[in-house]
Amino acid sequence: MKDFSAVEDVCGDAGPEAIFDTRFQLLGHELSNLKSSGQSELAIGDRKFLMSKIIVLMGAPGAGKGTQARLLQEHLNIPQISTGDMLRARAQEQDALAKEIQAVQASGKLASDDLVMRVVEERTAKEDSAHGYVLDGFPRTMAQAKMLEKLGAEQGHKIVAIVVDVPFELLEKRATGRLSCPVCGEIYNTYSKPPTNDKKCDFHPHTELVQRVDDTAEKVKIRLETYNEQTKPLIDGYDSTGRLHRIDGTKKQEEIHKEIEGIIRSNGFIGGH
Ligand code: AMP
Repeated sequence: MKDFSAVEDVCGDAGPEAIFDTRFQLLGHELSNLKSSGQSELAIGDRKFLMSKIIVLMGAPGAGKGTQARLLQEHLNIPQISTGDMLRARAQEQDALAKEIQAVQASGKLASDDLVMRVVEERTAKEDSAHGYVLDGFPRTMAQAKMLEKLGAEQGHKIVAIVVDVPFELLEKRATGRLSCPVCGEIYNTYSKPPTNDKKCDFHPHTELVQRVDDTAEKVKIRLETYNEQTKPLIDGYDSTGRLHRIDGTKKQEEIHKEIEGIIRSNGFIGGH
């Protein structure tokens, strides 16, 4: 049995590319074998340790980012960090900021960069994000993308961007048909994934599913415009730096998940921790 008890930073100043899970000591030769073989995954007992990454899930409203982020959290134990969800939660409080967030979300426009960047910085500083995380809905502007580059370098995480591509014609239908459970957050769609019982959550049979205030046809149109203008250009940035992967978002949820998982594993990411 190998001794992994003494904790030390095996990566030192090697930079983000080489930073592995430092909560557990890996023996020096294990680490160099892993790196030189191009392998990204090391199993110790029933645990897996991989290079830490920030997975940026991109795609227009209705592309299915939230569903995929939830599946990754569930199956790979990677925290899902959804700026939309965090802002919606903050909007429940009774203060001026909450009112501001409610108004901006209801309008279909973007919240201020300062606010969103602060939320992301605070959330990703938590212990569960130490090995990387999935960003769902961030970055959405150039300023946010720049901030993420800096954050990734500081935190020692490499960035991998995955775009879930869905044709424009389908997006409106997808977004306007979306319903979610206010208790567990499970996402349904009246067109593609209806609940078993009319408008009730499959996991909480007494809970009525809800539609987001910004999932109306009018607001979805504004959100799609905002996406095209402010967020789509970021895709080119990730593409030109060789960090972009495209996924066909019209496939079945499970197939998309498998593909995303494949990308994450081949690029090296955390497993269970
Ligand atoms: P989502 O749940 O990702 O569709 O986000 C819902 C709404 O929250 C957006 O339409 C924006 O008003 C706000 N929001 C979420 N993420 C961001 C972000 N990264 N930057 C600015 N606003 C955001």
